[in-house]
Amino acid sequence: MRMINDDLFIEINEGNVVILGPNLERFSDSGRIEPCWAPVFYNPAMKMDRDISICVLSAFQKLIGKRLKICEALSATGVRGLRYAKEVGNVEKIFLNDVNSLAYNLIKINVLKNGLSEKVTVFHTDANVLLAYFARRGRRFNVVDIDPFGSPVPFLDNAIRAVENKGLLCVTATDLAPLMGVYKKACLRKYGAYSIKTEFSQEIGLRILIGYIARTAAKYGVGITPLFSYYRRHYMRVFAQVRIGKKLADKSLSEIGYLAFCPKCGRIIVQKSMFFKKDICEKCEKEMEIIGPLWLGKTGIREFIKDVINFYQTRKNILEKKGLILLSRILEEIELPPYFYTTSYITRKYNFKREPSLSALVNKLKMRGFKASLTHFSSKGFKTNASISDIVEIFKLLQNI
Ligand code: SAH
Repeated sequence: MRMINDDLFIEINEGNVVILGPNLERFSDSGRIEPCWAPVFYNPAMKMDRDISICVLSAFQKLIGKRLKICEALSATGVRGLRYAKEVGNVEKIFLNDVNSLAYNLIKINVLKNGLSEKVTVFHTDANVLLAYFARRGRRFNVVDIDPFGSPVPFLDNAIRAVENKGLLCVTATDLAPLMGVYKKACLRKYGAYSIKTEFSQEIGLRILIGYIARTAAKYGVGITPLFSYYRRHYMRVFAQVRIGKKLADKSLSEIGYLAFCPKCGRIIVQKSMFFKKDICEKCEKEMEIIGPLWLGKTGIREFIKDVINFYQTRKNILEKKGLILLSRILEEIELPPYFYTTSYITRKYNFKREPSLSALVNKLKMRGFKASLTHFSSKGFKTNASISDIVEIFKLLQNI
């Protein structure tokens, strides 16, 4: 263990654990800090996700009422899994794993450091080998968490197979450039979906990811129900309950479809069908762009999200205002259409002089009888069931205020 000394590795406090992790400054280049440059990965920017994940797992434990057997197949320092062990109630057992030997040794040290030897078992193998081994009746986990850097695609098949009936699959994606249409071909290769770079690409990306999880699960006769999903900064995260059953798989496939988007006027049409049809924009008489296949169903369940918020609020040592705002936006928008607009986009596209305030706009839409909300996807974004022409009319009214 010569590599591990006070300088290259330091003690890090996060939530209720203390871990030995990389001293990121020692692995920086000209002042730039990239967590993946360290020999073992630790990203402080993901703390909020780990906080939220703890609340999601707590809400899930409450939902199923069972003691949890959890597998975090890509653990790095182990911080996530160790926090689950300490901070989620009713955890029976946690399996941590990393293919990198330095990470494996570090996880073992961190297990000891936090007095968790009874609850945690550490593996040193390929995540797919581990997950495939546990993918049998009687061995499966209540929760499988796939939190890689980059795409979760290489691990999804075995992760789904390793979750027991009614268990929870947690997935992170940080390959946002393909998912959000910057690298269209990479999105097609990895997710078998067509994405575009536009104002609401954050939501397109999240829905392509969920759609891909649903299609992968369907191959094994498994259906999924997203309980909670979100986008933040450089990552997307999906928490889906899996249910074994061919009919359930068919049901979740029926939530997949396409969006048709007119780049000229901003019109969006939802096509809830496994096969897309070409759509012509009735106003511009131009062929619309097709996005998908993607998940068109709900990205979370209202009651479940409320529970997540309750857990977040009661945990005084993790509670942050920005976290609470994020969670309340996710709740607010959950029943609205599967896309959003931004005030800057409409202002630009329709040459308005003034960009209206979001709150005035949402209020006006509601006063006119439409559904409307802010969205966690973008600070300038709003969701509504009003058509693009109704939105433009309301923008006109707001110019004179
Ligand atoms: N979940 C961690 C971050 C994990 S980073 C956290 O919350 O902090 C991804 C980790 O996956 C890295 O440590 C890397 O070594 C490991 N990894 C990459 N490919 C793997 C594979 N095929 N099997 C197991 N571990 C792998």
